[in-house]
Amino acid sequence: MKTDSFASRHIGISEEDIQVMLRKIGVATLDELIDKTIPANIRLKEPLALPPAMTEYEFSNHIAQLASKNKLFTSYIGMGWYNTITPAVIQRNVFENPVWYTSYTPYQTEVSQGRLEALMNFQTAVCDLTAMPLANCSLLDEATAAAEAVTMMYALRPRDKQKAGANVVFVDENIFPQTLAVMTTRAIPQGIELRMGKYAEFTPAPEVFACIVQYPNADGSIEDYRIFTEKAHEAGCKVAVAADLLSLAMIVPPGEWGADIVFGTTQRFGTPLFYGGPSAAYFATRDEYKRNMPGRIIGWSKDKYGKLCYRMALQTREQHIKREKATSNICTAQALLATMAGFYAVYHGQEGITGIASRIHNISAFLEKEINKLGYKQVNKYYFDTLRFILPDNVSAQQIRTIALSKEVNLRYFDNGDVGFSIDETTDTAAAGILLSIFAIAAEKDYQKMTVIPESAAFPKELKRQSAFLTHEVFNKYHTETEMMRYIKRLDRKDISLAHSMIPLGSCTMKLNAAAEMLPLSRPEFMCMHPLVPEDQAEGYRMLIENLSEELKTITGFAGVSLQPNSGAAGEYTGLRVIRSYLESIGQGHRNKILIPASAHGTNPASAIQAGFVTVTCACDGQGNVDMEDLRAKAEENKEDLAALMITYPSTHGIFETEIVEICNIIHACGAQVYMDGANMNAQVGLTNPGFIGADVCHLNLHKTFASPHGGGGPGVGPICVAEHLVPFLPGHGLFGNPMNEVSSAPYGSAGILPITYGYICMMSTEGLTMATKAAILNANYLAACLKDTYGIVYRGANGFVGHEMILECRKIHEETGISENDIAKRLMDYGYHAPTLSFPVHGTLMIEPTESESLWELDNFITVMQTIWKEIQEVKNGEADKDDNVLVNAPHPEYEVVGDNWEHCYTREKAAYPIESVRENKFWINVARVDNTLGDRKLLPTRYGTFE
Ligand SMILES: *Cc1c(COP(=O)(O)O)cnc(C)c1O
Repeated sequence: MKTDSFASRHIGISEEDIQVMLRKIGVATLDELIDKTIPANIRLKEPLALPPAMTEYEFSNHIAQLASKNKLFTSYIGMGWYNTITPAVIQRNVFENPVWYTSYTPYQTEVSQGRLEALMNFQTAVCDLTAMPLANCSLLDEATAAAEAVTMMYALRPRDKQKAGANVVFVDENIFPQTLAVMTTRAIPQGIELRMGKYAEFTPAPEVFACIVQYPNADGSIEDYRIFTEKAHEAGCKVAVAADLLSLAMIVPPGEWGADIVFGTTQRFGTPLFYGGPSAAYFATRDEYKRNMPGRIIGWSKDKYGKLCYRMALQTREQHIKREKATSNICTAQALLATMAGFYAVYHGQEGITGIASRIHNISAFLEKEINKLGYKQVNKYYFDTLRFILPDNVSAQQIRTIALSKEVNLRYFDNGDVGFSIDETTDTAAAGILLSIFAIAAEKDYQKMTVIPESAAFPKELKRQSAFLTHEVFNKYHTETEMMRYIKRLDRKDISLAHSMIPLGSCTMKLNAAAEMLPLSRPEFMCMHPLVPEDQAEGYRMLIENLSEELKTITGFAGVSLQPNSGAAGEYTGLRVIRSYLESIGQGHRNKILIPASAHGTNPASAIQAGFVTVTCACDGQGNVDMEDLRAKAEENKEDLAALMITYPSTHGIFETEIVEICNIIHACGAQVYMDGANMNAQVGLTNPGFIGADVCHLNLHKTFASPHGGGGPGVGPICVAEHLVPFLPGHGLFGNPMNEVSSAPYGSAGILPITYGYICMMSTEGLTMATKAAILNANYLAACLKDTYGIVYRGANGFVGHEMILECRKIHEETGISENDIAKRLMDYGYHAPTLSFPVHGTLMIEPTESESLWELDNFITVMQTIWKEIQEVKNGEADKDDNVLVNAPHPEYEVVGDNWEHCYTREKAAYPIESVRENKFWINVARVDNTLGDRKLLPTRYGTFE
C-alpha cells in the first residue's frame, strides 16, 4: 500500500506488522495464509475491474462534482416526504458525530445508556403525538411499516376470523401509492388480499380482518374516521392508521378515536430528505399487542443495585430467538434517524412543534384562500398542509408545470390533471408568494403577496387536538442550544462506539467509517432532494447510483443490482421475492420451500416466512460446516418443492467451507436457486465472489462490509445483486412507471447514505479492497493464534485457519468455574471494550471479528485484555478469587460503585476499575451496574413517563 493512499489509512496494519503477525500465525507470507484459507476452486483468476483508486482529496472533488449535478429546486411534492430544518445542534452533535453514528445496536445495555435514552425519547414523542401507549424505536420506512401492520393484524385475528379463514384487509383508496405497493408485494405470497375501497362505504364482511386508512389521506384531506372505526371494531376488524406525525400536533390523534395501530414516517422531524431515505418510520400500538410488535422496543429496567436504567425489552420476540416464528424479520432499523427525530422533539417541545405545525397550516390556509380567488377550486374540506386544486378551464397542468419549473419549483401533478402542493417547515412568506404567483400567472390574474403569516381559521372542534403532549421534563428542559449540546454530550459519554475502541462483533463487521466517506452526506445537494423530483434535477444522484451499482456488480460477479432494500434482512426478503417471481415466470411457482442450515442468522428463516415460503432446516456437522449428507437428503426429499437454499459464506462460523461449489450444484440440480447471505462479504471482496461461486442472488450489508456506519442500529442498506435470469424481477417503483416487487417507500431506498459506500469503493479500488479482505482474514487469524491456547477456537477451516472472524470457546470455562460468556462480555466493559457477538451462532461462545481497520497495537491490547480476563477466570477456578464475589460476576463496575463509600468486595477497587495499565489512558466509566434482564420484560414501560412504583 502506498503510504499516501486512502487504503493505508483505512487498513490498520503496516507491512512490518504483517511480518510479525505471520510469524505468530506460523505461515511465511500473507498469500500463503490466504491460499490456505480460501478454497482454490473459488479464487478469482483476475483482479476486480474497478476504476483506479482516488485519494481522499480526489474523491472530495469528484463527489462535489457529482453533487453539483443535482439541481435543488424547491419541492412541494409531499407524498410522505417534506422539507424540514435539521437543527444545526443536532446535525453537528449527532448526525456528524462518530459517537452516535458508529455505535452498535444497544444489545450491551451497560455501555449503551445514552442511545437507549435517546431512543426512549423518540418512543415517548411517538406515543404522545399518536396518543398510543406503546411505540417501538423505529422501523425502516412508512411503507414497510404498513406491511408490518398487515402481518401483525393478521396474526392477531380473533378466533372467529381465523376460523372463517379471514384474509382480506380493507384499504382506503386514498393512501400513498408507494405504501400500497409495498403492502401488495408483502401480502400476495402470504395469501392476504388487499381490498381497495372508500372508507365511507366500507361494509364489514366475514373475510375482512383489518382496515387501513391514512390520516390526513393521500390527497391531504383530513377525514373523521370515528364512525368508520367503530363499525370496523364491531365487525371484529382491527384498524391501522398511517398518520403524519407533525399534523397530530393539531388534529385529534388516532389513539383518541380508537386506532389499534398507528404508523408513519418521522422524516419531517428534522431528517433531511436524502432523495427518499434514510429516515425513521414509527409504529405504535396498544399495550396488549406488545408481543406481536415488530422491531425493537426500549423499556425501563434497574441495575443490580436498583438504579433505574434503560434496556431493550422483549427481545425474545425478535428473529434471533424466534427465527421462523418471529413477528418480523426486522433487525437493523433506523436508530440514528430515530435518535435525531427524538432530539428534534426534545429541542422544540410541545410549544415549538405546535408552532411549526400551525405556521405550516396557516400558510396553507392563506394559499387556499388566495388561489381559490384566482378561479381554482381546492378540494380538501379539511387539511393540514396539503392542498389539491381543480384548475379553471383556461389553465392546464402543463402551463403550471412550465411556470413552476421556470421558478425552480416542483409541485404535485395528479393523474386527473389536478395540481397540488404540501407546505413544510421551510416555507416562508417569500416562498409562499412564489407559489401563489405560479397559480396567478397561469390564470393571468393579479395576486395579493403575503407579507405576514395570517392566523388561520381553527379546525372544527371534532378535529382539533385538545390533549397535551410532550409534557415530560425532557421535552421542556433543553430548548437553548447550550443546554441541548450538553444534553447530547451527556448521553454520548455513556456509550462505547468506534470512537473509543475496537468493537469486535462477529458477523457485524464494525470497520472504519471514514470521515472522507461521511462528509458528502452533509452536502445540501444530497440532503435536500425530494425522491420524486423530475429525473433531470437528480442527475448527480442518478450517476452515483449508476456508478455504485456497476461497482457492486463487479465485486459480486452478478448482472443486476437493486439498492432499494433498507437493511440486510430487507435484502433477504427482496431476494426471495425476486426468486419467487422468477419461479412463477417459468411455471415453477409451486416451489415453496427454502432450505436453511441450522447455523443461519435468525433473519434468514424469518425472511423466508415473510416471503411466503416454508423453511426446511439442514444440519451442521461436528466441524460446523453444512452436513453434506443431510443437505443431499433434504434436497432430494424436497426436490419438487424446493425454491432455494439460503447460505452464508464464509459460514456464520467464519469458515470457508470447501464444499460450497458442490452445495450450489446440488441445489441447482433440484431446479432451485442459491441465495447467498452476504453479511460475511468482507471475507470475499477481491478474492472470490457469489457470482463466481455459483450463487444466483446475494444481499450485501453496506453497513457491514462497505463502510457505512451502523448508527446504533441503522440506517442500513441491503442491496441485492442477482444473476442475469433474475434481473427482470428486481424491484421497480410505481411512481417511476415501473411497478415490480417494491420493497421500500423510496425508489432507491436509503439513497442519501450511498455516497459512503461509493467513497469507500472509489478510494480503495481493486488493490485496497483486496488488501482489506486479506488484512481482515490476517487479523482474525492473528487473534486466533494468540487466544487458541487459553480459550480455544471452536471451528477452523480445512487447513486449520479461520476466515475473517472466529469463535472463542467459553463453554468449558462455564462448566469449570461458573463464569459465563456473558460475564466475560460484561467484564470487557471494565477494560473499555464492547463485547464480541454473544452466543451466536454457537451458544456459550463469543464470536470475534476484528476487521481490517484495527491497528496491531489495538489488536495486541485486546489480546492482553482477553488474557488478563483469562487469568481472572483462573483465579476463580483455583480458588484465589471468590466464586460468588469476583471481578467477573460483578462486572461491569460502574463509577458510582467504585468511588462509593461502601466497598465490600473481596478484591480492590483498583483491580475492578484499573486492572491493567493501558486502561488508565482510556478509561470508559460505566454508568450503571449489570442490568436486570427480566424486570423490564415483566413490566414493559416504553416511555419516559414509565415508573415501577
Ligand atoms: C447482520 C446480518 C443479517 C441482517 O442484516 P440487517 O442489516 O441487520 O438486517 C443477516 N444475516 C447475517 C449473517 C448477518 O450477520
